[in-house]
Amino acid sequence: MNVLKSLDLQNEIQDVGFFCDNMVFRNNKEKIIAEVNTNQDKSHYGSDGLIIKRGLFQKFLREKVISNNIQIEWNKKLESIKTDNDVVAKFKDNSDAKGDLLIGCDGLHSKTRQIIFPDAPLPKYTGVVLAGGISKNQSKTPTNQLTFRFGSKVYLNYFVTSDREAMWGAHMKIKQDLLSDLTSVSSETWKQKILDKFSDDSSYVSEFIENASNLTKLPLYDIESLPSWYKGSVCLVGDSAHTTTPHAGQGASLALESALTLARCLRDTSDTEDAFSKYQSQRKPRVEKMIALARRQGEMFTATNPIKKWFRNSVLSMMIKKNSQMFDEIYDYKVDW
Ligand SMILES: Cc1cc2nc3c(=O)[nH]c(=O)nc-3n(C[C@H](O)[C@H](O)[C@H](O)COP(=O)(O)OP(=O)(O)OC[C@H]3O[C@@H](n4cnc5c(N)ncnc54)[C@H](O)[C@@H]3O)c2cc1C
Repeated sequence: MNVLKSLDLQNEIQDVGFFCDNMVFRNNKEKIIAEVNTNQDKSHYGSDGLIIKRGLFQKFLREKVISNNIQIEWNKKLESIKTDNDVVAKFKDNSDAKGDLLIGCDGLHSKTRQIIFPDAPLPKYTGVVLAGGISKNQSKTPTNQLTFRFGSKVYLNYFVTSDREAMWGAHMKIKQDLLSDLTSVSSETWKQKILDKFSDDSSYVSEFIENASNLTKLPLYDIESLPSWYKGSVCLVGDSAHTTTPHAGQGASLALESALTLARCLRDTSDTEDAFSKYQSQRKPRVEKMIALARRQGEMFTATNPIKKWFRNSVLSMMIKKNSQMFDEIYDYKVDW
């Protein structure tokens, strides 16, 4: 949100998303075991947090790009890169594009990363597949609360909008060697598998799952650290440089922060490699800290060991109170544009 503020887009984006009144942590009986009040975020951090659907956010950004006369070429799949004095990107349709530099923002399984760093660490599977969906007309659940619910078998997070639409994700533990079989699991079987995880919990959340369509099966990955984010005149940004799990809700935010920092370094430094080097040194420590934090939170949230679960549910409230600087580290970060 602070990046969008630097770009004068903060007010407009607010019309596309939903404000969150607070974050609550519940056990499998819906009892609130910890709470984070978010109503001081604007005065503390400069912006309120916003819950927004990915597609609407992308549409918003795309329209801004187009209205600023920045050209977009659709359906270009990068296949190879040639670097000489210039950089030439070659695409699957046999077309190419030439420029002074190339910025690879092609996500988790980045082709740019594979080309410039063939020996780089591969994204690491976390053992969790996110089964997510959107369900309309949720009448029983509180609205505008970002909820983290520790069920007896599975961790679920959800947010119900003021229009009573629930966006939710159940974190299913699935072994790596079973991932390839997952693609052939039918939607009905997948839905039943998720519902079975809630069979011991007397809860309204089963209603989300029953009512949902287009359920996702997203294996979650991260990359702890890449030795470098650039080589010559080619540089990575966003998930291609720093993939994180969604457990700190920071992947897209880190991508936006990195993009703005990279833009500033290129604006203020005449030599491209020098700009890439400054960008990397300004961003790498923060993103690696966030990746590690997200992984730790993920392990705690998705724990299945009964002792770990009991301990988490007993001390979470105290941990949140004692670790208020953790929230400051996440949210009180600003790129000086
Ligand atoms: C389940 C889940 C929940 C998440 N929740 C949150 C959240 O609550 N908050 C948050 O901040 N982040 C969240 N994230 C993380 C967030 O989605 C990512 O960090 C963010 O999308 C990264 O943006 P990006 O532009 O770097 O990559 P992407 O959004 O992955 O975009 C990469 C683009 O590159 C294109 N591409 C790929 N290969 C090629 C190629 N060879 N040639 C040309 N183009 C190519 C793709 O089509 C895509 O358009 C979540 C992620 C997941 C998986």
